[in-house]
Amino acid sequence: MRAAEPCPESAPWEHFHPSVIAHHGAECCDVARAWYTAMDRSMWRGHGGPSWISQRFPWGPSRWPLHWCEAMEAEELDCGAHAALSIEAFRARGIRVVPVQLVQRQEVHHLPHWHDRWGQADASPEWARAGACYHESCATIEDGRAEVWDPTIGAWLTPHHMHGIRSVAAVRIGGPVQSDEVVSWRGLPLRMGVWATPAL
Ligand SMILES: [Zn+2]
Repeated sequence: MRAAEPCPESAPWEHFHPSVIAHHGAECCDVARAWYTAMDRSMWRGHGGPSWISQRFPWGPSRWPLHWCEAMEAEELDCGAHAALSIEAFRARGIRVVPVQLVQRQEVHHLPHWHDRWGQADASPEWARAGACYHESCATIEDGRAEVWDPTIGAWLTPHHMHGIRSVAAVRIGGPVQSDEVVSWRGLPLRMGVWATPAL
């Protein structure tokens, strides 16, 4: 297998794995997960993506590990939780879906506010750095084509948005397990499991 191109933008988050919601192995989480499945079935009719998730659980700090029973009682969830829940929703409809990790450009002036908010919630602020942030979403894959759903903003993303806020500085599709499979995200070829930077 060919070595991955070095990707300096993703370096601070190279060791981050896609978020997974934990299960206590007990009724508390069974009940919470069943509630989620029922909600998703009634709220999302399959057009677009499951945008109800971030409407019900607006974006904010989550403490990890996060269990199903905690997630479903949370007032806010972070992008990792949004992504994990979206993956469940797509999968429940028989759609092939994989985690997506992103580094997005952000304005520097948000940083102190985000660090305060996450700090006060006793959550890790490691995702936010000056000018760039780690973000999670998910991708549906069909016939070699990937479409990236951002559950936090409730929209499909494009790699062609390359400047300004939320533009993609780096992306990894499918988590840390490298494979020879290459998918096309709106014309951008991406090897699964490898961080890449959309060419400017
Ligand atoms: Zn539980």
